[in-house]
Amino acid sequence: MPTTIADTIEDTIEDTIESTAVKNLTKPERAAHILSELERLYPTTPVPLDHTDPYTLLIAVLLSAQCTDERVNKITPALFDLADNPFDMAQQPVEVIKAIIRPCGLSPKKSQAIQGLSQILVEQYQGVVPADMDILETLPGVGHKTAGVVMAQAFGVPAFPVDTHIHRLAQRWGLTSGKNVTQTERDLKKLFPKEKWNKLHLQIIFYGREYCQARACHGLACPICTHCYPNRKHPKKLKKP
Ligand code: SF4
Repeated sequence: MPTTIADTIEDTIEDTIESTAVKNLTKPERAAHILSELERLYPTTPVPLDHTDPYTLLIAVLLSAQCTDERVNKITPALFDLADNPFDMAQQPVEVIKAIIRPCGLSPKKSQAIQGLSQILVEQYQGVVPADMDILETLPGVGHKTAGVVMAQAFGVPAFPVDTHIHRLAQRWGLTSGKNVTQTERDLKKLFPKEKWNKLHLQIIFYGREYCQARACHGLACPICTHCYPNRKHPKKLKKP
């Protein structure tokens, strides 16, 4: 049915009444609501990548770059049958590792990194994954995000690893205007209490997978946005990381 001038005037009046009656939340109010909503939705946060110790988690996180956790979990049993510790992995030819992990993508680089970091762990750290962010970041194939995930999930040290998914949600929820994951991590760390970081990291990932996918947002529909932005009329635009 075509829109009439009367309809338009009616819509405008309704919008005016709505916007004066309900206010968008402030950033701290949004953060508090997001915290409680995520706690309600995801009271427990099982680590998505199957592992048995810090080493197997480190390898699984490395493999998860540009790959789904589900696919990594299908590949790691065969890899860890071959070698589930740095001593055994360091003995494996890169080509053998590469053949197993090929379905995860980027297999030439990832296989070299797995073999290389295993050798370093054996030669310099007695085969033990160091619980130290700075040292982890020096290992081949281990960037800031991977190191943060290992610190948080293997050692329980507060970290807030931000990937493109967390970056996207933080932007859409108006928690950051950061143009990259580094700025977003800094903003989120300021906004949330340190003791919440590790759980929140996973809760945001779970929420993103369920409700807030990269291409599926209309900016208006989910419980978090309808509560935080009752007056929002258009989807949030993203700044690319
Ligand atoms: S409406 Fe839903 S999908 Fe869109 S930004 Fe909000 S939470 Fe994400």
